[in-house]
Amino acid sequence: MLEVSNLEVAFGPVAPLSGVSFALDKGETLGIVGESGSGKSLTAMSVMGLLPLSGGRITAGSIVFDGQELTTLSEPAYRRLRGGRIGLITQNPMTSLDPLQKIGPQVDKVAVLHLGMTAREARARTVEILGTLRIPEPALICERYPHQMSGGMKQRIVIAMALAADPDVLVADEPTTALDVTVQAQIIRLLDDLVKERDLSLVLITHDMSVVAQTCDKVVVMYAGRAIEHGPVGAIFGAPQHPYTQALIGCIPKGLGQDEQLTGIPGTVPTVLNYPKGCPFHPRCPRAQGICATDRPAHVTQGDSAVACHFPGERA
Ligand code: SF4
Ligand code: MG
Repeated sequence: MLEVSNLEVAFGPVAPLSGVSFALDKGETLGIVGESGSGKSLTAMSVMGLLPLSGGRITAGSIVFDGQELTTLSEPAYRRLRGGRIGLITQNPMTSLDPLQKIGPQVDKVAVLHLGMTAREARARTVEILGTLRIPEPALICERYPHQMSGGMKQRIVIAMALAADPDVLVADEPTTALDVTVQAQIIRLLDDLVKERDLSLVLITHDMSVVAQTCDKVVVMYAGRAIEHGPVGAIFGAPQHPYTQALIGCIPKGLGQDEQLTGIPGTVPTVLNYPKGCPFHPRCPRAQGICATDRPAHVTQGDSAVACHFPGERA
């Protein structure tokens, strides 16, 4: 359904993203995980064709959606796709919702625009979708304004807008970051159910490895603008090969008791302007050797997984 190969993005002379590859089938959930500044959102924006808005451009690689190359797509064609066959759910619901407009018309217009429905047909569809998202009294909610709703409800409305055009792929960029922990779990479960019920493909961007473990089929681990390891969730969590992936998995709270210590990853994430030479993780890597500071590791493929490390292997 969606295949990204060797994606590279540049802002002028700076290349914050390079060598990002992944593939997603119908009905699959792919997690893109990494610390902030690792390139997760840039990857999402590239897929959505929204890079030009921020002054970035794709300088290499390809994005193929349902057989169609997107990197060379015209803006009008992209506009039909975006919010149509590819839906976006952002971190902050208020970037997607108009505070001055009632909920109903905001959701209705997606189906009017992308499916050519009449206003009446669109409203019936809106009410139905809000019901699917377990929003109580959907017809009443249509008459409310965003500020009259909780954060979790607003995020459900954003999901409803993303679903209204009957998309094939949903891209959710940290969809629960702005919400309370209990609401976060509800929204993640809701997305998980939607993927199964509607046979959607979901790209779930998160910094939370436990969310990936619970909901995703595949995972891409990003570091300093590179996909440093990717593959099926079972394989990556069962036997991570990259020291950074191993450290991320080591940071997941096991919930064994209140005395449990979280293993942090020493050092800080490099920013785009000072990506280290060689392997970008070498200043923080417990396994680094001389070559790591000078030579960028290529991806080594093993089954459906790939890792970019000179010394891949299970943790000592
Ligand atoms: Fe560590 Fe070297 Fe592998 Fe990078 S290439 S993760 S520095 S061992
Ligand atoms: Mg982000």
